[in-house]
Amino acid sequence: MSTLILDGKAVRDARFTELKARIQALIKPPILAIVQVGDREDTNAYIKAKITFGEKLGVVVKHIKLDEKISQHELVAKVRECNEDENIKGIIIQLPLPIAIDQDAAIEAILPAKDVDGLTAFNVKQWLEGREEAVLPATTRGVKELLEHYKIELFGKHAVIVGRSMLVGKPLAALCLNENAFVTVCHSKTADLVSQTKTADVLIVAAGKPRLIGAGHVQKGTTVIDVGINTVIGEKLEDEIPEKKLVGDVDFEAVKDIVSAITPVPGGVGPMTVLALFENLADLCVKG
Ligand code: NAD
Repeated sequence: MSTLILDGKAVRDARFTELKARIQALIKPPILAIVQVGDREDTNAYIKAKITFGEKLGVVVKHIKLDEKISQHELVAKVRECNEDENIKGIIIQLPLPIAIDQDAAIEAILPAKDVDGLTAFNVKQWLEGREEAVLPATTRGVKELLEHYKIELFGKHAVIVGRSMLVGKPLAALCLNENAFVTVCHSKTADLVSQTKTADVLIVAAGKPRLIGAGHVQKGTTVIDVGINTVIGEKLEDEIPEKKLVGDVDFEAVKDIVSAITPVPGGVGPMTVLALFENLADLCVKG
C-alpha cells in the first residue's frame, strides 16, 4: 500500500473560505497584535507568514516590533496596552524572547481572553484538563485537525512525542493523552530514542534537529507527524552558491516508503499551524 502524504497545505486551503466567512461575519475586523522583541531572521519569517495569511482573511495584524534591549517592565506595559484596547482580540508574544526577559512573566501579562497562543497559566490548565473550550496552542490544534481530516485516530494508540517544550511538545502530549492515546514523551536526555520511536503508532517529532528521525527509527504502519522546521545550507557540493533548504526533524525520503502516513516539510504542519492560530482568534472573538 502506498504511503499517505498528509497535505497540510491542501487542508488549510480547503478550510480557508469557511474561516474567512467567520471573520467577515464579525461586526468589526478583529485586530491580532503580534509583539516581537528583536529582529531574528526566523522570527521575521514566521511573522510575515502570519501577517500575509491574516490579511487574506480580513484580520488586521498589528505588528509591534520592539528593540532587543527593551526592559521586562516596558514589554509588560506594551502587552497591557494591548489588553486594554478593545479592538485587539488576540495577542501573541513571538517566541523565543531574548534571554534577559522572563518569558513566563511576559506571557502572564496577556489577558487569558486574548491569549490566542494558549500559553497563559489559565489556558494551560484548560488544555491539560482537556476542556472543550480550551485555547490549544496553534501547532497542537493544527496537528489535531490534520489527524481528524485524515481520520487518523489517537484512541488506544501508542503516541510517541519527541520534544517536551511548553510551546509544542507538552501540549501535543496533553492532546494525545486527552484523546485516550497511551503516550511516551522523549527528549534530549532519552537514552535510547530508537527503541521508543520504533513502537509508535503515531510518532510526532518536535525536536528542532534536522532529519533526526531516519529509517531505523520507524516501523511499518506508523503515522509520522513532523513538526520540525530547520534551515540547512549548502548540502549539495556541486552548488556554486550554497542553497538554503527547509527540512523537518524527519528524513522524509528515508522514511516515507516504510510508514503508512507522513507530513512533508514544508507543506505539512506549518500551514495547519497558521490556520489554527486564526481559528483560535475567531473563537476568541465569539467568546469575547
Ligand atoms: P525547543 O528547542 O524548545 O524544544 C526542542 C525539544 O526537543 C526539547 O524538549 C528537547 O529536549 C528535544 N530534543 C532536542 N534534541 C533531541 C534529541 N536528539 N532527541 C530527543 N529529543 C530532543 O523547540 P520547539 O519550540 O519545541 O520547536 C521544535 C521544532 O518545531 C523546531 O524545529 C521549530 O522550528 C518547530 N516548530 C514548528 C512549528 C510549525 O508550525 N511547524 C511551530 C513551532 C515550532
